Amino acid sequence: MTDTPRLEIRNLVRSFSGRRVVDGVSLTVMPGQVTCLLGPSGCGKSTTLRMIAGIEKQDSGEIWVDGQLICDGTHRVPPEGRGIGLMFQDFALFPHLSVAGNVAYGLTGSARKARARVEELLQKVGMSAHIDAYPHELSGGEQQRVALARALAPRPRIMLMDEPFSGLDDRLRDDIRDETLDVLKAEGTAVLLVTHEPGEAMRMADEIALMRDGKIVQQGAPYNIYNAPVDKAAAAFFSDIN
Ligand code: ADP
Ligand code: MG
Repeated sequence: MTDTPRLEIRNLVRSFSGRRVVDGVSLTVMPGQVTCLLGPSGCGKSTTLRMIAGIEKQDSGEIWVDGQLICDGTHRVPPEGRGIGLMFQDFALFPHLSVAGNVAYGLTGSARKARARVEELLQKVGMSAHIDAYPHELSGGEQQRVALARALAPRPRIMLMDEPFSGLDDRLRDDIRDETLDVLKAEGTAVLLVTHEPGEAMRMADEIALMRDGKIVQQGAPYNIYNAPVDKAAAAFFSDIN
């Protein structure tokens, strides 16, 4: 059973104005693993993630979660039925809800259970002391921690993250990356993380899928991709790790 990928996409295609911005992308994310979809700006990463989330329609291709077909040409599970959590750059907290309200937002079931889950997650992200605070009272890093707790609350089978750290200042970013990774690993959540920074992928990924011009050009362990890039362009891309 553990050989079944948490997420598998096969030959995903999407065109805008006749241009294939996602051009036959296939990749897998195994349970408990972090896979980074890494590539330069404009190569089609966000479009790929949006199709997996179900907020963008693919032209063709298949999306599988835990061995179940979620979406192809004929069959389509709506976004909320996919067991997918989202953390996007522009997915702000709800300003009118407290920290507890934000984290509880996607939870169903009894109030007592929801409260227990909220407390558990705020503990994990180190935000217990701020449970009754409102978003405007929090720093950027603190808001990020709450956003992570909110996304994890319904226990998604897989978490999709689109450049979630790019809004943070440099001093904070490394710490938040490490903390986020710790929380995700502790929850056992599989992750597909989009980034254009090779350094971020090297730091966070169990597996890297390297994307260019709408295609995956190489997928493998970070160490292998770094040491044996598929071509000169891949080597050059990795050379400016800071
Ligand atoms: P990335 O996330 O890797 O920077 P995107 O997936 O956002 O790339 O975009 C890939 C390409 O598709 C870009 O050239 C972008 O301009 C184009 N694109 C994305 N969404 C749309 C859209 N809704 N309509 C037209 N073009 C789009
Ligand atoms: Mg993008």
